[in-house]
This record gives sequence, C-alpha cells and structure tokens, in this order.
Amino acid sequence: DDTIVLAELAKRMGIKANDMIIKLMGMGVMATVNQTIDYDTAELVATEFGFEVERAAFEEETILSTSVVDEDPSLRVTRSPVVTIMGHVDHGKTSLLDVIRKTSVTSGEAGGITQHIGAYHVETENGAIAFLDTPGHEAFTAMRSRGAKVTDIVILVVAADDGVMPQTVEALNHAKAAEVPIIVAVNKIDKPDADPDRVKRELSEHGVLAEDWGGDTMFVNVSAKSHVGIPELLEMVLLQAEVLELVANPDRLAIGHVVEAKLDIGRGPLATVLIQEGTVKAGQSVVCGMYHGKIRAMFNDKGEQVSEAGPSMPVEIIGLTGVPEAGDEMVAVKDEKDARQVSGHRLQKARARELAKNSRVTLDSLFERL
Ligand code: GDP
Ligand code: MG
Repeated sequence: DDTIVLAELAKRMGIKANDMIIKLMGMGVMATVNQTIDYDTAELVATEFGFEVERAAFEEETILSTSVVDEDPSLRVTRSPVVTIMGHVDHGKTSLLDVIRKTSVTSGEAGGITQHIGAYHVETENGAIAFLDTPGHEAFTAMRSRGAKVTDIVILVVAADDGVMPQTVEALNHAKAAEVPIIVAVNKIDKPDADPDRVKRELSEHGVLAEDWGGDTMFVNVSAKSHVGIPELLEMVLLQAEVLELVANPDRLAIGHVVEAKLDIGRGPLATVLIQEGTVKAGQSVVCGMYHGKIRAMFNDKGEQVSEAGPSMPVEIIGLTGVPEAGDEMVAVKDEKDARQVSGHRLQKARARELAKNSRVTLDSLFERL
C-alpha cells in the first residue's frame, strides 16, 4: 500500500503539481492534484523529471517491537487479570465497581480523590485486579473490532429482581465472540423480589450454565447496596485468572492499548492506557495510534504521579501530539526519531486514504453527470 498524493510528491520534488499532471498525462496516466498514485508510477514520473530514485522501504515492524511470540518464555511472569464489567443498564455496574474500589485495600488513602480515567487498579488481599470501566458495549466492540484484546475476564452483572434483559444478552454475545470467560454477578440480592434462580434459568437458555447446575460458569450473588458477596466475587476473578495463566514480560519496551482519551485544555491530549507488555516510563518516546510523543508525566487511577507502569496497570499519560482513539495501540520506542517516523508515516497514510476517498467521490459524481 505504498501510495502518495500527487500534490505531496510534486511538493517534495519541488515542482509544480500542474507540470506533474501534464507529465503523467504524457505517460498515459490521468491524475488530479488530490489523487494518490502508487509507488511505481511515482518512481517513473520522478525519473522523467531527472530524479534518481532509491527505494527506501519503510517497515514499521523494524521500529515497533510488538511481537512477543519469539520472546524467551522464561522472561514472562504472572500478571494481574484485566476485567470488564458488563450488563444491562441500571443493573448496577457502576455501583459494583464503586464498592469494589472502596473496599479494596488501598482505599481510604490520604487525599483519595479518585479521578475518572476509565480504568482502575484494585489491590485485594489475594492479588491485584485491573478493572475497565467501559462507558458502554460500544467501546468494547470498537476495541475488539480493531484487534485489541484488552480484557481477560468479563463480569456479567444481572439484577436479581429484573433478570436477563436485552443488553444482558448483548453483553453475553460480545464476551462469547471475544472468547473471554464470564463470571456472573447476580446483583441486588438485597431486594425483596430478588430471584437469583430465575437469572440462572434465563441465562441457561442462552447457553450459560452455572457450576451447581452442571455447567462451568461461576455465579455469585452480590449486593452493591449492602456490600454482600464482594470478596467472593473478587475471589472468583482471581481463581479464573489462575486458570488463564496470565503472563507478561515486564522488562521490555511497553505495549498497551488506549482505554479512553480526551483533550484537556491545560494539559493537552490525555490518554488512559492499559499496559499489556513491558514497562512504560516517564520520559520515554511512544507511538500511540497515529500520534506520538515523549511522555511528560504519568498518573495512576488515584491521580498520583508515577514514574513507570508495568503489565496490567492502567496509566494516564501526557505528552502526545494528538488525541488517539479508544482501542489504539500504544508502543514505546527507543527514541523520539523512531516515534516521529512511525507517526508521520501513519498520518500520511491516513491523509492519503482521506484524499482517495474524496477524489473517488468527485469521480463518482462526474460519472453520474455523464
Ligand atoms: P449501571 O447502569 O449498571 O451502572 O447501574 P448503577 O450502578 O447506576 O445502578 C442503577 C441503580 O440501581 C442505582 O439507583 C443504584 O443505587 C441501584 N443499585 C445498584 N446496585 C444495587 C443493589 O445491590 N441493591 C439495590 N437495592 N440497588 C442497587
Ligand atoms: Mg453505569
């Protein structure tokens, strides 16, 4: 997919776009200023203008070390599970996450101002867990469609008084498609009309069978309101994590995915990144989606400044040149030059795609008129 926009090529060669169009016409190629031309054509026309063409292939792969396949397996150590809480609206996702964070060991610390960064790190007596607070299923789907597998376990929240609802099924289907194990949290067990057996029955109709019903899905009755079943739920998450044997190499250039990103008036682009491999350090250069940057500062989910973040740690980073999208990959690189090069290449490709789209539109409208 080596292409360049005609205007850009002309500019780089220091010639007028019109002259290039005429030259191309002479070669039997009809092109407009905004059209993308392929490498071979660019090479030909450049030669026509007396340029000596040297093919310098640009391989992102040689700069980005995203492969963990051929890494020494002994470098990989146990990492914490990453959990996404899903379920029907009002079944108690936010309340549950709030309770989990409040009852965790690290809560009640001085300051304790928790800022919303879309991902949380929770310490329990038996181990740490990262929670993704996806605003909706869209974020989960968006990430998955972009090949980002950020979640290890899904907690499916179903209100015991309401039972399985449309978004419960939707969440279930997302989790199944992503091949992520599910733990069912039957919430609002404190309510007088709570009927946890109904939830089991209804979910069994969707192929989710509880362990005590002969299946292999863990169910736990909880109440976010009266704080019932929370330690049991966390216990189940850690049990499931053990089965999954989650590992990562903390001693390498970091790879992570953007969970949330926004533009802050004072601080510029802010991105919450969940680290998956390696350790990211303040001052390092990274490529993040189409953008890059030198990390000026990093903050944890408690708003505290941190100097590094390892596998399964969510961290908010400052210093990117633009606002990436949720699901974008972040990769640490060896220096700023590498970061700029990859990002520049991606931006150029994105621009070429955009222009190609536009010129196709004009062509189409042209043909319509004929
Ligand atoms: P979400 O839309 O899934 O995030 O649901 P919320 O956490 O916002 O909860 C929706 C409503 O249910 C709120 O009014 C909560 O106070 C209430 N709620 C959540 N958990 C419980 C629970 O365990 N018991 C009771 N009685 N109410 C709950
Ligand atoms: Mg909510």
